[in-house]
Amino acid sequence: MIQVQNWTVGSRRAYVIGAGLAGLWTAWNLAQEGHEVIIYEAHEPGYGASSRAVGIVSLQLPLKLLGYALEGLRAYKSMGLVRETMSLWIPRPEVFECALSVARELERHGMPISIGTVEELINQGTVNGDERAILMVQAIVDPGDVINALYSKMAAWIVEGSATVRDGMVLVNGRPLDDGPVFIASGPWSTDLLGLRGLRTYRCSAFGVESDDELPGLIVEDDIMSFYYVPEGGRRRGIIAGPDEPLNLTNEGFRVNIYEAYDVLEAASKRMPSALGMRPVSAWAAPCVVAPDGMPAVGEVPGMNNVYVFTGLNGAGLTLAPALSKLLVDAFEGVSQVPQFMRPERLERLNGDFLEPFDALCA
Ligand SMILES: Cc1cc2nc3c(=O)[nH]c(=O)nc-3n(C[C@H](O)[C@H](O)[C@H](O)COP(=O)(O)OP(=O)(O)OC[C@H]3O[C@@H](n4cnc5c(N)ncnc54)[C@H](O)[C@@H]3O)c2cc1C
Repeated sequence: MIQVQNWTVGSRRAYVIGAGLAGLWTAWNLAQEGHEVIIYEAHEPGYGASSRAVGIVSLQLPLKLLGYALEGLRAYKSMGLVRETMSLWIPRPEVFECALSVARELERHGMPISIGTVEELINQGTVNGDERAILMVQAIVDPGDVINALYSKMAAWIVEGSATVRDGMVLVNGRPLDDGPVFIASGPWSTDLLGLRGLRTYRCSAFGVESDDELPGLIVEDDIMSFYYVPEGGRRRGIIAGPDEPLNLTNEGFRVNIYEAYDVLEAASKRMPSALGMRPVSAWAAPCVVAPDGMPAVGEVPGMNNVYVFTGLNGAGLTLAPALSKLLVDAFEGVSQVPQFMRPERLERLNGDFLEPFDALCA
């Protein structure tokens, strides 16, 4: 266990629960505001989805989240972690106009885009289809590099400890915390911990693939066939992922079978013929969490004193954590407000199936 030492007398202490991307970014922003931070982690940093993300700094998000995603992109660029790749985005026809407004906004930020049918944008034979699509540049980062970069700044602040909540109070290893705000960033486990209603847990999974043939050298995000493909370093390696699975038990989210990849490859082959020649070589998964409106949960926990939550980051937590953690810390400091559409109290009023960022595009 790592001990915390040398706290400065008179400074303000803040507690963070969970050392995933949400918790580490929150801790970093709290420290920038002069707080002494203790991060309690039940397992090890990156234990949940955070070390298992594919690594796309997703810009295919609803307009109202786009500014936060671009801020995330700037943060990763300034850390020197970004690799850029062309990306073909094929939204479902019913959200195409909303996707187009997102693309136009990216263009306004100096990011070139091309619009046309799949056939017009890409050589036929690599990716097929006559649906309207958007060609743009996307950034990829290695989540392991992000965790390591943050961990190296904050290793001394991380303490092994499991949080529980009793009578509205947060306990760690069964003991109440001293005075100080508590920021719950324990991913899908935040839901059980806080008894937050409305959030849904599901499994995010991905498969490493190899082929004897050359594979497409661009990202394909296909919301019609429900898969995404990401080229890896070599020309014959990639990552492919299919639809997400709703979960009843959070820990079941780690379970994945490499043979599930064949269903994804079959669906993908209708769009990318080369998927037929891909062999799955690895598989990984973790629980992710989302609200029915597809928006994160950021802000003070209703009915609890001095307790804040940062979760519901969906399949876009790598992208959104830098900016939304700053938003939360700024709101805590009283210098800004969390917009209504992200506040936890709205969750009580929500119902319905969970939404992916794609589905929430027109929300
Ligand atoms: C296969 C896959 C692909 C993905 N691809 C992308 C992508 O390309 N781009 C993108 O932006 N996002 C992607 N994501 C989503 C992204 O990984 C998540 O949104 C993000 O990691 C969520 O971070 P978090 O810190 O909220 O949660 P987590 O990473 O789950 O972290 C929660 C932490 O809290 C700890 N904890 C839990 N309970 C307690 C407790 N009681 N006390 C103390 N600690 C506790 C856990 O041990 C864990 O370390 C992907 C996810 C997966 C699984």
